Amino acid sequence: PTETPASTNGKKQPPVILCIGMAGSGKTTFMQRINAHLHAKKTPPYVVNLDPAVGNLPFTANIDVRDTVNYKEVMKQYNLGPNGGILTSLNLFTTKFDQVLDLIAKRADSVSHILVDTPGQIEIFTWSASGSIITDTLASTYPTVIAYIIDTPRTTAPATFMSNMLYACSILYKTKLPFILVFNKTDVVSHEFAVEWMTDFEKFQEALSHDTTYMSSLMNSMSLVLDEFYSHLKVVGVSAVTGNGVEDFFAAVDEAAVEYERDY
Ligand code: GDP
Ligand code: MG
Repeated sequence: PTETPASTNGKKQPPVILCIGMAGSGKTTFMQRINAHLHAKKTPPYVVNLDPAVGNLPFTANIDVRDTVNYKEVMKQYNLGPNGGILTSLNLFTTKFDQVLDLIAKRADSVSHILVDTPGQIEIFTWSASGSIITDTLASTYPTVIAYIIDTPRTTAPATFMSNMLYACSILYKTKLPFILVFNKTDVVSHEFAVEWMTDFEKFQEALSHDTTYMSSLMNSMSLVLDEFYSHLKVVGVSAVTGNGVEDFFAAVDEAAVEYERDY
C-alpha cells in the first residue's frame, strides 16, 4: 500500500495548529486557552513553544525552544539586538528540528492536536528561512492549519484592518496552507464589524471613504484583491481570556484539516 504524507499506517495524524500574529495579538494567551480546553475535554495536545524571548509561559510546553537556546546569551555572543537575537536563536533551534520531529512523532498517536506558538514579532517567523523550514517540515507530515490571530480592538480602523488583512494574505499565499482568521479579544470589541466588511464590499468602501489617513484610491484597489483572499478563509471570533468562541475555532480546525487532506 502507498503511504500518503499526512498518514502513517493508515492512522490519522493530529492536526498542527500554528499560531501566527502580530506582537501582542494574543497568540500565547490563545495557546493557553486552547491547551486548557483540550485538557478539559481529556484530549490533550502536544505543545511546542518557538518563542525564545517569552518571559513567562502560561502553559506547559512539551518542547520549548528556551530549553535549547538562551536568546540573551545569543545576543551577547553574536553582538545582536533583541530581534537579531530571537532570529538567530530560532535559526540555531531549526538546525535541530529533525530531533523535534522525532519527539513529536513518538507522541503523535496519543495527542489530539499539535499546538505551536511562534515569536512575538511576526516577521521573525513568517519571513525567515527557519520559519519556512519549520512550517514546511510540519506541513509535510501533519495536516497543518495556520491560526492567524488578530487583535480585534486594534484593527477597527479601516486602513489598519486592511494592512492586517494584506499581511495575512501574504502569509496565505506564501504557505498555501488552510487558514483561519482568529479575531481575538472579542471580550473588548466584537468582531462583527470585520465580518461585515469582509462579506459586504460596499460597507468596507464606505468605511474607508471616511478614513483620510491613507491614499484612498490605492486602498480601494487593494480591497478588491482582498475580496478574492476572503473567499479562501475561515473566520472566527474568540476571546482567549474568557474562552468565548473556542468551540467555533475547533470546528474551523476540523474543516481545515479535511481541506488539508483533500488538497495537500
Ligand atoms: P502575543 O505577543 O501574541 O503572544 O500576545 P500575548 O498572548 O502575550 O497577549 C498580549 C496581551 O493581550 C496580554 O496583555 C494579554 O493579556 C492580552 N490578551 C490576550 N488575549 C486577550 C483577550 O482575549 N482579551 C483581552 N482583553 N486581552 C487579551
Ligand atoms: Mg507570545
